[in-house]
Amino acid sequence: MPVSNQKPMGISSASKLVVDEMKNTQKTTGQQTGLWQDGWFLPAQRIESPNQDARAPDTVVDLVVIHAISLPPGHFGGPAVAQLFSNQLNPDEHAYFAEIAHLKVSAHFFIRRDGALIQFVPVTARAWHAGVSSWQGRERCNDFSVGIELEGDDETPFEAAQYATLQSLLKALATELPIKAVTSHSHVAPGRKTDPGPCFDWAYVRQVCPDLTIAP
Ligand SMILES: [Zn+2]
Repeated sequence: MPVSNQKPMGISSASKLVVDEMKNTQKTTGQQTGLWQDGWFLPAQRIESPNQDARAPDTVVDLVVIHAISLPPGHFGGPAVAQLFSNQLNPDEHAYFAEIAHLKVSAHFFIRRDGALIQFVPVTARAWHAGVSSWQGRERCNDFSVGIELEGDDETPFEAAQYATLQSLLKALATELPIKAVTSHSHVAPGRKTDPGPCFDWAYVRQVCPDLTIAP
């Protein structure tokens, strides 16, 4: 079964849950937020992708790579992205699907236009999102990064609900991993990738993550 029937959580309920969880757990443990279990972010819908493998022992995961994807390109809301990351995309449904259905790719997270959050790979494992890439002289960004896909393209502004979910997710990631920087796929794979593209609002990320290096 490619896609679970679990109802995706909207951003309003997801963020409320994040805030409530943080309040509760700060009182009780003071250390763990209670939002994570074995690399899974509990407020997200989980659809595990086979396209993952183990990170090298002692890897410091300190980078977030932001992407954008829509399938077919420019079409929002369908099941195709989850199907692609689950190796279930039907090449007969669209000419573009035929070109990419063979790819073995994934990201840790996917944020839909309505802010719903899906997780495909635990952050403890390596997702296959960045490909040939380099960050500050370190090659193979998949090794040490978390990949977040936003449903979008190069021409359409992203939705407020997507930024709200992204903010909650970045804050939660910072409680689980020693994240130092947020960058774009186009930055780590220049000339090969353009996402998340010119419509992504980096000023927003700078505002909500003042302690991180933001390198679009
Ligand atoms: Zn990308």
